[in-house]
Amino acid sequence: DANPFKKMPNILYPDEIMDKAYNRAEKIAGDLRTTERGLSLPKSRIIEDNKIRTTSSVISDNLLQIVEKTPSIDHLDPFYREILEIMVGSDEFKKSLAAINWAADLVKKLGMQYSRKVKKAPTPQATSIVRKEFIGRVASILKQIYPNMAFLGVARNKLKNMPTVKDLPSVVIAGYPNVGKSTLLKTLTNAEPEVNSYPFTTKGLNIGYTEEGIQIIDTPGVLDRPIYERNDIELHAVVAINYLSDMILFVIDPTEFCGFTIEEQVNLLNEVKRTFKVPILVAMTKMDVDEIEGLETLENELKGFDKIKISSLKKEGITDLKVRITEILDEQGLLSLLNDIE
Ligand code: GDP
Repeated sequence: DANPFKKMPNILYPDEIMDKAYNRAEKIAGDLRTTERGLSLPKSRIIEDNKIRTTSSVISDNLLQIVEKTPSIDHLDPFYREILEIMVGSDEFKKSLAAINWAADLVKKLGMQYSRKVKKAPTPQATSIVRKEFIGRVASILKQIYPNMAFLGVARNKLKNMPTVKDLPSVVIAGYPNVGKSTLLKTLTNAEPEVNSYPFTTKGLNIGYTEEGIQIIDTPGVLDRPIYERNDIELHAVVAINYLSDMILFVIDPTEFCGFTIEEQVNLLNEVKRTFKVPILVAMTKMDVDEIEGLETLENELKGFDKIKISSLKKEGITDLKVRITEILDEQGLLSLLNDIE
């Protein structure tokens, strides 16, 4: 899944676009001009007409480029649609693109209109007045869309450097803080995870890969507390994660050392279950701890869930956990690609 915003062009300031158009128009006019000092009416008309048409096409092309190279929201991969909403706001983004499209269209139409007008200008001076009037109108259109251009420029800079989440079978880890999620991620992937600077939270996503090529994503701040406590942006982050995940690995700490009761943890699990439509595997962790009081109660509460006991610290149950993850992904047909490679 390549970052669809990478293709967005650099957004020029109105002055820069005007300069670009001016330079091109002057160059063409210069080629047409002869050494004679006073220009004849037909020659003036040709020169000014060329300036008008060049200015019009340079500017409208520049604006259209922006619109064409910016991914359209309606065709965006749903994950990136959420990212757009989180990072810049889709409404404003849409509005800005529409404004630029409008301006491109108008500049083109004005170019044609003034091209006709300059051909009827009665004197050489009149031809240059027509051209100046045209330039004035174009400048004011660009001024009008300046806020939209500035918005898109900022949006582009934010979006284009966003890291890419690989298109691999993905397991998303959920569970309250301190239950042992990041320890488990390290245990499963035998490596320090990449910290991926997605803007979901201040913390980013931690991503690791298993030997089998499965992507394991820890989402600090996203799936670690009840959904009703969330603001709008965080909700979009939850939705984005929803699109990323092929299954959820929900970590429960039955020792309650994490500071959350078993009941609170099971409530979050049930909430995640209602929110996500992917298979959930529950990992009861910290099994190396002696005499875990609430274990029996917990097992009763987890009756309807696919579950496994592990200890990241002692590396117990990790192989079984990996096998179960592989099976769940395989049941969804997600491992066929990896198997083919083997
Ligand atoms: P996270 O906030 O969910 O990512 O939790 P961490 O992975 O940072 O772990 C929180 C605490 O639990 C740390 O002190 C870990 O050392 C400890 N921990 C994690 N896994 C285990 C385990 O399997 N057994 C024990 N005894 N402690 C663990």
